[in-house]
Amino acid sequence: MDALQHLRCLPQVDEVLRGELGQRLLGQAPRWAVVQAVRGEIDRLRQELLAGRSAPQDEARRIRLDAARIEQAVLRLSRPGLRRVLNGTGVILHTNLGRAPLAEAALARLRDGASGYCNLEYRLDEGSRGSRHEHVQALLAHLTGAEAHLVVNNNAAAVLLMLGGHCARREVVVSRGELVEIGGSFRIPDVMRASGARLREVGTTNRTHLSDYEAAIGPRTAALLKVHRSNFAMVGFTHEVPLAELVSCARKRGLLSLCDLGSGALIEPRTLRPDLPAEWTVPEAVRSGCDLVSFSCDKLLGGPQAGILCGRRDLIDRLRRHPLLRALRPDKLTLLALCATLELYRDGRAKQEVPVLRMLAVGEADLRARAEALATRCRALGLDVEVLEVRSVVGGGALPLGQLPSFAVAPAVSLGPPEALHAALREGDPPLVARLAEGRLLCDVRTLADSELDEVAAALRRAVNVISGRSA
Ligand SMILES: *Cc1c(COP(=O)(O)O)cnc(C)c1O
Repeated sequence: MDALQHLRCLPQVDEVLRGELGQRLLGQAPRWAVVQAVRGEIDRLRQELLAGRSAPQDEARRIRLDAARIEQAVLRLSRPGLRRVLNGTGVILHTNLGRAPLAEAALARLRDGASGYCNLEYRLDEGSRGSRHEHVQALLAHLTGAEAHLVVNNNAAAVLLMLGGHCARREVVVSRGELVEIGGSFRIPDVMRASGARLREVGTTNRTHLSDYEAAIGPRTAALLKVHRSNFAMVGFTHEVPLAELVSCARKRGLLSLCDLGSGALIEPRTLRPDLPAEWTVPEAVRSGCDLVSFSCDKLLGGPQAGILCGRRDLIDRLRRHPLLRALRPDKLTLLALCATLELYRDGRAKQEVPVLRMLAVGEADLRARAEALATRCRALGLDVEVLEVRSVVGGGALPLGQLPSFAVAPAVSLGPPEALHAALREGDPPLVARLAEGRLLCDVRTLADSELDEVAAALRRAVNVISGRSA
């Protein structure tokens, strides 16, 4: 038979859907996914035949479809695109993995407040129109000590609004050593340009003195800006001007003092573990007298993606009237989760209940026990694994020098090449993202919950099966 005759032996999509395989899949998955998977498999076989290769046929000389392939495709197609993953990287604030996992209280508030209606912009006491920005004011005043606050979509938006609202067409003086890039999409000079403010760089990469700022001040200057370096550290021959000195210089010269604090810790990370580097906290920045401070809510704070501006009431009020705010304002989901997270801080429950803080604080003995528990589950599934001592980083533009001792479970090298294993793990459901180091695949347990260990062991078992060609 030639290729053309073979092509005629390919089944039609409808025929497959009416058949046993089609009916079974239609009972498990939406029709569109089954249709697309079947069509994909028929197309694949057509390409094979056109390329001169043969395809298996049944008794009736119809070309036989690969049922396992179709089932896999149906599964892949019907899974949500954005979904939960198991984080075995050990990086607590992994921007690519959604940064901070939310506290139970935040999740409960989301469900409670968003499954029906909520008083987002409604004053319950007066029965009149309210503002979405009101709900966090008292909470934030308690936690930061600032006069006024404004929540926006993220810290990049906070910086954009702060500069656009108060420094447009005027100059903002920034140290060269603080012109940071955070993860490619946020660069201080670019955000400044977008805001309409003009950047005036001062100092050198490693050293900037107060006199550098002072020399740069002129009639067009609007503000002195300090930026937290966040994801890198400078060591050696360095000098930077402390925020308090910048603030007093700005005040003397009639300028605004602004600070992009980056991570926005509400409590000093060293109170969680003494081996972490010192970090400026939001209340410290506010106490220094800085006019406006901006920070992220999904870094060390451990809440939903949002950015907060805090500082002088007159400056915040002006930003509330800025037309950009309408584009940058947070939605009800963010505000619900943020309020619940901030309440944990207010009520002294954050260290126990905010996952980011818990993962930072967890001790080595607990991590070792968790790694051993995971290894035991893996061995019960017949996997040869080892428990290794590793070091993990905090990540996500926070605590660049913070190397945390941790424990990881590593499958034996004999189980397969780590890259192939990792690819199979990422294909799993739920996917597991691990870390590759020194030729090994590591599942760092710092970022895995005790409740996830069964899933992790099962994921490893499935991935080993997949790469060794056994049925998953
Ligand atoms: C992380 C960070 C940002 C960006 O914050 P997002 O909340 O991700 O928008 C801006 N500035 C600094 C210093 C940061 O660390």
